[in-house]
Amino acid sequence: MQSQILIVGGGAGGLELACKLGRKLGPQAVSLVDSRLFHIWKPSLHEVAAGTLDVHQEGLSYQMLAHDNGFTFVYGPMQALDAGRRQLTVGAIYSDDHGRREEVLPLRRIGYESLVLAIGSTSNYFGVPGAAEHTISLNATEDAERFRLTLLKLLTQAELHTRPQAGVDIVIIGGGATGVELAAELREASGVYAAYGFRPLCAERDVRITLLEGAPRILAPLPEKVASAALALLRQRAIKVVTATRVTAIAADAVTAGDIVYPAQLVVWAAGIKAPDLLGQLGLPTAKSGQVEVDARLAVPGHAGIYALGDCAACAGPDGKQVPPRAQAAHQQASYLAETLLRQQRGKPPPQQPYVYRDYGSLVSVGQSTSVGSLMGSLKGLSWFVDGLVARLMYVSLHLMHHRAVLGTLRTAVLALARFLIKRSTPLVKLH
Ligand SMILES: Cc1cc2nc3c(=O)[nH]c(=O)nc-3n(C[C@H](O)[C@H](O)[C@H](O)COP(=O)(O)OP(=O)(O)OC[C@H]3O[C@@H](n4cnc5c(N)ncnc54)[C@H](O)[C@@H]3O)c2cc1C
Repeated sequence: MQSQILIVGGGAGGLELACKLGRKLGPQAVSLVDSRLFHIWKPSLHEVAAGTLDVHQEGLSYQMLAHDNGFTFVYGPMQALDAGRRQLTVGAIYSDDHGRREEVLPLRRIGYESLVLAIGSTSNYFGVPGAAEHTISLNATEDAERFRLTLLKLLTQAELHTRPQAGVDIVIIGGGATGVELAAELREASGVYAAYGFRPLCAERDVRITLLEGAPRILAPLPEKVASAALALLRQRAIKVVTATRVTAIAADAVTAGDIVYPAQLVVWAAGIKAPDLLGQLGLPTAKSGQVEVDARLAVPGHAGIYALGDCAACAGPDGKQVPPRAQAAHQQASYLAETLLRQQRGKPPPQQPYVYRDYGSLVSVGQSTSVGSLMGSLKGLSWFVDGLVARLMYVSLHLMHHRAVLGTLRTAVLALARFLIKRSTPLVKLH
């Protein structure tokens, strides 16, 4: 198989790029490889984990997106790269029928003229003993689903008193946006779980949520006012927040931070990310955290025709600071590369301006009805604090904007309405 433009990773950035290019150039020219069959916008994974968002309703099939946006979808994991021959290897896909492994799709080699790497990030455990074995991260849909099902199991056991200790202890490690959003979402969800069948449980008493953060305050990269507002909202929701603490070990039933031991049946690792290990094996230049190094045009130096974007790319701004791993950056980089690659296909020179990250601010969801955040003004350093329903509506609109980029305006509007109605006619959380 041969594709003029081959994109690997259909996440926040890669999928938007495939849709933009596919609509202009068509399926002969544009292909997208992903190791999964459907797309979920990663910033909503804390909702999947808490059960407030159903992956089976929310997931967008890559095959459908490919058909509607005019690109070719290749299902399978990227395994290797031969940059000299401009050839990518996509691994075989197997089915597992009660332990009987059967090959569904063979290993494939795809030639390309331009390759865009957009495979996101994975957890960085910083060598903390037990972290890889005993924690769940929110890096992929499967992780979030595993968390949800484990939570359901623990709640059922707590209700039936099949475990010696009453209730469930959840420890979230990392007080960044992911940890804060998950803690708040879980508190709301635990109230609903308690109301639907887990009746002997009292959510605030029996579902104990602790958030541990190493820095002196939560949401360290965001303005102090945003962090204080989020902290107040978490405390109102009976979430224990401990800052300036370092987790030293994690076991199956406890988290140790120095000389304090926190009981925990469910532990979430939200304390750091790094690039997938595979990137270090491709023969491309990588930065300290394993991301592929790119220049100001998102091109990999010394490897003509290879680009990288989003969490898996190490891109320094004009001030030397790294572009942060955020959906906002992945979206902007996808737009920049779409223009670069379209111009290339039409025989035009690349855009005159290099890529520069523009920070429009940050919004943190604190449950289903409120958010807090800051919006950046066009004047350097000026930001506005937003909270409450206004911030919540802005937060939701970011997800809708991503859907609009891949589904179009009309379908996004219809889907949003359908989901609004479904949410009002079913329990707030998925109970099965
Ligand atoms: C709970 C949570 C909340 C967040 N909230 C925010 C927020 O509010 N605002 C914000 O800006 N950012 C937020 N982020 C960060 C944001 O989600 C990421 O920065 C963004 O998704 C990065 O986009 P990406 O395209 O680089 O990678 P991703 O969106 O992670 O996509 C990577 C894609 O690559 C595919 N892939 C991986 N490995 C392979 C392989 N070997 N072969 C083929 N395909 C592969 C994956 O299946 C996936 O589809 C949040 C993250 C989390 C986890």
